[in-house]
Amino acid sequence: MTTSAAGTGSADELPDYAPVPRSALGPALNEQGYYVGRVERNLYWVTDGVYQSAFLVTRDGVVLFDAPPSIGHNLRRAVDEIAAAEGVSNTVTHLVYSHHHADHGAAASLFENVVRIGHEETRRLLLRDNDPARPAPDVTFADSYTLEVGGERAELAWHGSNHSPDNIYIHFPGHDTLMFIDVVNAGWVPIYNLNLSEDVQGYMQAPDIALSYPWTHFICGHLGRLATREDVALHQQYIADIEAGSRDALASVNPVPYYMRYGENVWAGVKGHLDTVTERAAAPVIAKYTGVLAAADIEAFTMTTTFAIMQSLRLDKGPSGPVHP
Ligand SMILES: [Zn+2]
Repeated sequence: MTTSAAGTGSADELPDYAPVPRSALGPALNEQGYYVGRVERNLYWVTDGVYQSAFLVTRDGVVLFDAPPSIGHNLRRAVDEIAAAEGVSNTVTHLVYSHHHADHGAAASLFENVVRIGHEETRRLLLRDNDPARPAPDVTFADSYTLEVGGERAELAWHGSNHSPDNIYIHFPGHDTLMFIDVVNAGWVPIYNLNLSEDVQGYMQAPDIALSYPWTHFICGHLGRLATREDVALHQQYIADIEAGSRDALASVNPVPYYMRYGENVWAGVKGHLDTVTERAAAPVIAKYTGVLAAADIEAFTMTTTFAIMQSLRLDKGPSGPVHP
């Protein structure tokens, strides 16, 4: 922690950050603390400014995509508001999990008597973690699943692990929209460790897969607005800059002085070396994206993401180091 105020509750002593670019912000929230808007036709999105969910209103009921607990009971209010305005049923009949994480799914149990749909790994992980707020999906799939309700269609697909092992792509071919959660943050940098991702190489390759679909609107799961193809491309450039900087720093930082300094404490040598590599790789990226992507100047985010990518270059891509002669 860089702040002396950590844990003291004294807001005055907390650090200042660069202003959030206006382009990173979305529409104002209503009195209940949510915004619901039309994506296209009868596909809607909901945000509380931090999390996002989506739903389709059809002649046969409402299909909900993710149920973040931070939006919570406002999901019901948003569905009721739109169903009343459109003159259709407000009954939620289906709930799709994008992945198993609680922060996107733990309001699922608020909706009873619904068909829950998710990847087979989502079911396995939810049964393992046994959280009553996230009932395991009844309908599962391995590679792809076409969900058709009331004449509307969503194409669910799994293309390998990324942020989590079970994170799926949700394509709405009739609505020019892709929903893909926790990889790209519209207008903002990823938080710690590539948005707390488990598979670094899978995470880095996922935006190309997202862009291979035809869409104009992108529901990314976080913050206050929808994303565009330009947002995905900017995220890719940020990650590519971190990867390039990490390669350069791995090649240019001499590890020998760190190991000479610390002798038998080899872990101290490792820390000195890898921290220096991380700082050398991350510093130019932080400078380049401050004012471009919101929170780029919160150094811990870019530093931890850089550390994760730098380690993946060593451990996944190789070489991890020189071969002993
Ligand atoms: Zn997640």
